[in-house]
Parts: sequence; structure tokens; C-alpha cells
Amino acid sequence: MGIVVAKFGGTSVGVGERIHKAAKSIVNEYMQGSKVAVVVSAINKTTDESIKLVKESVGESVTDKQLAGILSMGEMQSVRILSATIESLGVKSEYIDPFSEKWPVITDSDYLEAKIDREETKRRVDEHIVKLLDQGVIPVICGFLGRDSDGCVTTLGRGGSDVSAFLIGHCLGADEVVIVTDVKGVMSTDPRKLNTARKLDKITVEEMIDLANYGAQVLHPNALRYKDPQIKAKIISFEYGDLRVQGTDIIGPAHPDDNIVTISILPEKLSIIAVVGENLMSKRGVIADITSKVAENNLTVYGISTGESSITLFFKKSEAIKAHEVLHDLVIQGDTLSSLSLGQEIAMISVVSHEFIDTPGIIANITNPLHDNDINIVELSSSQTAVVVFVDWNDGEKAYELIKETLQ
Ligand code: ADP
Ligand code: ASP
Ligand code: MG
Repeated sequence: MGIVVAKFGGTSVGVGERIHKAAKSIVNEYMQGSKVAVVVSAINKTTDESIKLVKESVGESVTDKQLAGILSMGEMQSVRILSATIESLGVKSEYIDPFSEKWPVITDSDYLEAKIDREETKRRVDEHIVKLLDQGVIPVICGFLGRDSDGCVTTLGRGGSDVSAFLIGHCLGADEVVIVTDVKGVMSTDPRKLNTARKLDKITVEEMIDLANYGAQVLHPNALRYKDPQIKAKIISFEYGDLRVQGTDIIGPAHPDDNIVTISILPEKLSIIAVVGENLMSKRGVIADITSKVAENNLTVYGISTGESSITLFFKKSEAIKAHEVLHDLVIQGDTLSSLSLGQEIAMISVVSHEFIDTPGIIANITNPLHDNDINIVELSSSQTAVVVFVDWNDGEKAYELIKETLQ
């Protein structure tokens, strides 16, 4: 018999009829033999409305602790209504809020962006939530909320119910986490911004994290930190009132210990090619010209960065001669680019961790030891979850060891 964690977003329980539909979908799943743990957000825009009220009444002087307490009311209400609706359909249910003895999610005291104590949460899930599921009771747990060691309510940050769902799924060793929301799944872009957006049948954890980090509200970027590879996950629409409906499956992660830092060095030498020209930033289509040329010739680019008067590209050393030739053809064909150089042999070190997103100073941590050891960084590129450092090939191994020492 499988364990399913079902999370209902605000819109999915936005009116009485939807709450009823949600409860029916939960009970149906239960009747088909699953153990179902439910996580629910505040009804509709309750959290936004509370924030507005507080702004207009208390104003700036509201403390984080007070605000967390006030915001928690949204989820305190929704769990009670949803749990009572499930009971009205003839199945035992129990709501669980931060004041319940059985409350599982324990955090530090950063009231509005609380950090989760994984061990204590896991221990409490095992002790309380597993027991309820074994007794055939459907627990309905407040999303978004935590409790600190003083017993005060904390929140996991806006949109944090998604985090609650995956966290509880992880602690339960669930078979599936189902995120029920107001879109059919993950779309090719925000459907509110482009009506040509279409649903994706699947997306990887890595893609989803980047999409969320760059602003796609459909899932909280921290939620997938708790997604184990063997736990199935999907995002579906509330409209169907069916937890088994197809939406977007979230696949992976491919490297489950990405929570820890992974540091790797490319075993092959790279070569750097710098293409120069005047005022490149203001010229259209230069990057397109370069990348098309590279693609036409089946060459792989390991890194690209743009500056005011140059664009640098990294190729495998074995492909660099060809890249040099074809890019030279491009340079002499037009007026935009003046010249290019094929430079030194380069080592590429990649540092990947989902923790980077909210770790200030990570680049300094990587670059300081290199600076202290007189290693020159030829190029550095960073995204939300990865930092790639290019150094001279002769410095590669040492730089790799130094970065490993600092970060692991
Ligand atoms: P919930 O209250 O269920 O958590 P949210 O409002 O937090 O729902 O997230 C769902 C919203 O995310 C959608 O209504 C949609 O506007 C937005 N969104 C942004 N990017 C995407 C995307 N790529 N795919 C689907 N929805 C997206
Ligand atoms: N109710 C909270 C919010 O609006 C949490 C959530 O919806 O996930 O931010
Ligand atoms: Mg949300």
C-alpha cells in the first residue's frame, strides 16, 4: 500500500465547492488503498490579505514573530475546514497545526524564512504522522508553517507549502508527492504572461529548480531539495478532482547529493578563443553569428562569456584548431568583428550545489583560496546553482584541490 502526500494550493481550496472536490479526491485515493497525508495552504489569497491588513494597521513596527503568528492563521483555518470536510465524507481525519502535540515541522527562529531542522522533523514525522497513517487516519497538515524550539510559530517563506509537502514526503519515504494547483502542470512559460504556453508532460528536478529560482511561481525553489529520486512527483490541476490525473511529472534528481557540494574538474584540456570587436554590447546578432558558425561545424562550446570588446569561448583543445579556423572565416567576412586569438590551455572546474541560492559569499569562498595561492582566474561564470571557474591548465589540479578543501 503506497503513501501519497497531496498538497493543495490556495486556489485549489479557494471556495467551498473546491474544498469539497479536494476532500473527495483525497478520500477516493484513500479508498483505493493509499495512505494519504495532506498538506494545505491558506485559502485563496488569505496570506496576501493578512499582509495588507497588517501593513495598514500595525505598519512598519510589526515584528517578524508577530507577522508569522498572524500569517499562520490562514493555514490554521484551511486545515480545519479541509479535515472536517474529509470527515463529512466518512473517513477519519485529523488536522495538525503548530500547536498540536503531533506537529512535525521543527525550525530555527528566523520567523519568516525559517530553516528546517531535518533530523527533528524526521523524528516527529516517524513518531506522529506515520502512526496516524497506520491507524487509517488522514492527517491534514498546515503547509508553510514551522515551530521553533520555544514553541513559537515560524513560516518557511512565501509559497512555502510546497516545501512542506516535499519535506513530509521525504520524511515519510512516500511513494508520491502530488502538488495540486491552478494550472494543468508546469507550462512552457507562465500562462498568465503568454497564452501560447503549453503543458510539459515531464520536467527534471534540475530544470524545475532553475525555472523556479528565476521566478516561476508554480513551485517553491527550495521544495525539490527534499525530493528523493525514488519518490514520484507531479503537478496537477485541481479542476479534475482526481489525484491520479496526468499533469507534469517531475523526474530525478540525477545527483541526489547535490545538496552537498559537487566539485569536478574536466579531465580534458580546453582552449580559449577570444573574438574581439568594437562596442560588441551594442551590436545585434554577434553571438548568434558566432554560435551558428560553431554549430554548423559540430563544435561544442564549454563556456561563453561576453564583454564590451570581446567574446570568449572555450572549446576542447582537440577542437580548438578547427574552431579557430571557422571563427576566423567569420571575422574576416564581416565588419563587426576585427580579430581573434587562440589562447592558452585551460582547466575547467565546476562547483554545483543547490545550497548556493541562499548562501551569500559563495563566490568569495571559491576565489579567495585561489587568490591566496596566486592562481589567476581566466574566467568565471555563475548561475543559481553552479559556479564554473576557468584557470590555466597548469593550475587546474591545485585549484581543484583548494576549492575542495574550502567547500567540502
Ligand atoms: P498555489 O497557490 O497552488 O501554490 P501558485 O499561485 O503559487 O499556486 O502557483 C501557480 C501559478 O504559477 C500559476 O497560476 C501560474 O501563473 C504560475 N506560473 C509561473 N510560471 C509557470 C509555469 N512555467 N508553469 C505553470 N505555472 C506557472
Ligand atoms: N499561504 C502561503 C503563501 O501564500 C504559503 C503557500 O501558499 O504556499 O505564501
Ligand atoms: Mg504556491
